[in-house]
Amino acid sequence: KNAALLSVFDGNGVMADGHLVPLLANVGGGKDAVKAAAAGAQGVGLLRTEFCFLGRDTEPSIEEQVAEYKAVFDAFVGKKVVVRTLDAGADKPLPFLTDASEPNPALGVRGYRTDTTSPGVLARQLSAVATAAAASGAEVWVMAPMVSTPSEAADFAAMCADAGLATPGVMVEVPSAALSAEAILSKVSFASLGTNDLTQYTMAADRQLGPLAALNNPWQPAVLRLIDVTVAGSRAEGNNKPVGVCGEAAADPALAVVLIGLGVSTLSMSPRSLASVAAVLKTVTLQRAGELAQLALAAPSAEAARAAVREQLPELT
Ligand code: PEP
Ligand code: MG
Repeated sequence: KNAALLSVFDGNGVMADGHLVPLLANVGGGKDAVKAAAAGAQGVGLLRTEFCFLGRDTEPSIEEQVAEYKAVFDAFVGKKVVVRTLDAGADKPLPFLTDASEPNPALGVRGYRTDTTSPGVLARQLSAVATAAAASGAEVWVMAPMVSTPSEAADFAAMCADAGLATPGVMVEVPSAALSAEAILSKVSFASLGTNDLTQYTMAADRQLGPLAALNNPWQPAVLRLIDVTVAGSRAEGNNKPVGVCGEAAADPALAVVLIGLGVSTLSMSPRSLASVAAVLKTVTLQRAGELAQLALAAPSAEAARAAVREQLPELT
């Protein structure tokens, strides 16, 4: 069945009414990027830059960073690459940025927050991204992880402008960011929903704990409501900014349909999921996806939401 799905995948999500959904890849460095391009990804929706430097106990030099980022950009000439600035902390500790003795690392100084405790690292990273971008033919966007307030979004946008990076964005992966999406998106050019953390923080359930897996499910209607609120904020008067998804939710074909139905414009995932997501998108119109999204939002539980939507997608039953 996988072979059949692969053969129908032409690199884009084309819905039954012709609506186009760019399908992008989540990558952790140059090697991943080459594989993602070969798998047909239309670009990179999430470059996890901390993956380039895991295990390092000192900050990589600007030159080292330029080389890593350029390797990714070179695999996607003429295409979009969304670089996420270092997301150190919690499940991704980086000794030069994070304090291993924090009692609650998931609620600690992680992601964008490390700019206050390790000033300079983020500015140097942005300058490396700008240098690599200028030396490549990719369309480079840059976003900060773990942004919680409009003022953080504004500060990040200012740092990007200082570095000469024209398209700043934020990840929406904290409930406060989803609830403030209208104000946040007035400060930046785009948002990307990190549904892994958004689910963890909405449900107050550690994403690394097996016994909490049922809570840690992006089909939870409360999580879907926050996604809905984020998209509404992105479309508020004067905003009109794109919102993508780069969490694991985008790789679940039925949930991908729901996300598009909620108004998300791009989906980024592990390259191995591209074909199965494309195969299901092909079977529904945008309007039908919207109806299925309403079905999921109205469901009483994650299991009910998933079952109700899958039942309507013959490709998956
Ligand atoms: C997320 O939180 O959904 C996300 C994409 O980022 P990460 O999994 O790297 O935290
Ligand atoms: Mg995250």
